[in-house]
Amino acid sequence: MESTLRRTWSEIDLDALLYNYKKLREYIGKDVKFLGVVKADAYGHGSVMVSKVLEQAGADYLAVSSMDEAMELRVNGIRMPILILGHTPKNQVERLIEFHITQAVTCMAKAKEYAEEARRLNKVLKIHIKVDTGMSRLGYLCDGDFFDNGVQNIVEAINLKGLDTEGIFTHFAVADEEGEEARAYTMHQFELFKQVIGEVEKRMGHPFKLRHCANTGAVAKYKETYLDMVRPGLLLYGYGEYAKELGLKPVMSLKTSVSTIKIYPENTAISYGGIYKTKKTTRIAVLPYGYADGFFRSLSNRYQLLTPDGVAPVRGKICMDMCMIDVTDMPDVQVGSEVEIFGKENPIETMADMAGTIPYELTCAVSKRVPRTYMKDGKVLEKELLLRM
Ligand SMILES: *Cc1c(COP(=O)(O)O)cnc(C)c1O
Repeated sequence: MESTLRRTWSEIDLDALLYNYKKLREYIGKDVKFLGVVKADAYGHGSVMVSKVLEQAGADYLAVSSMDEAMELRVNGIRMPILILGHTPKNQVERLIEFHITQAVTCMAKAKEYAEEARRLNKVLKIHIKVDTGMSRLGYLCDGDFFDNGVQNIVEAINLKGLDTEGIFTHFAVADEEGEEARAYTMHQFELFKQVIGEVEKRMGHPFKLRHCANTGAVAKYKETYLDMVRPGLLLYGYGEYAKELGLKPVMSLKTSVSTIKIYPENTAISYGGIYKTKKTTRIAVLPYGYADGFFRSLSNRYQLLTPDGVAPVRGKICMDMCMIDVTDMPDVQVGSEVEIFGKENPIETMADMAGTIPYELTCAVSKRVPRTYMKDGKVLEKELLLRM
């Protein structure tokens, strides 16, 4: 569907995405494979379109979090390898195999049920073994006293008939944190991961095809962790300190337009709760952008949006569908004027800091009623609206 409005929209710069991919490819070197993380609708950028760009550009693998996300890509013609990072129920094994989707195996119980189901179908499921080296989320626990048992269980899973183990991976907990402690923790995770791989490979008698662990922080800072494949998400979309250091470009710009302008006398309360009162005669613009579009209400009276006349502060509480900005002495701001919420000129990092969160959460929070405009070669390639019509 295409939106009929020019209310609030996101612009997805596919040239920037391709640029980031190429730049990262160059940075990691030609011997390392590239897995693009496109879970959560590619961090809110549109996983089908992002995956198409990556597929055409020659990326090696994609990762999503669930079966539904993997199927969205397959149904839309993406043919490259896809890894599901999260859990998939046993009753989906047939579809995993049918649609050539690789499943992460995170513990013995799941290895057994996947293998059983694959054997029942007389087929083989492709898997990657997930090792928990310190993230304490999914994966075979292998640290300290758990080492021998962890390795033993991984080897057992690999030897189950019905499973074809292509890879092994782990996930870093603090690779994107600064400081010696974070470095030491990450290095401990990495060394443990290598020990597990060494021991498992010895026992199974051949090497893994794909060993991977480097997320955004590790891609930027720890070259030694690349192994066979890197697995960045955020860097690809061009946000955060590391993206800046590597010269990457932000892919999403979130924009809105002025719907109404009014002038109020001094001491007028603006919006719910009246937390802001005008200090003088004040020109206020209403924007059709509220918390139902993904604007964090905690930014009420705090954030500032970028108008054609410079930054304009948000006044009063952010509403569900609207917010108000102060455009006093900004004569260029008129009804219909375009306003950048975050993007190339108004960096998302500022908004994330003010909201006490990370850019990931902000791009994921852009809601489905906000249509996307995909830009390529500086022109509109396609428009997309996710509402049921
Ligand atoms: C989300 C995720 C990534 C990507 O993380 P970034 O910080 O965006 O690079 C990599 N691996 C796993 C297992 C993930 O869940």
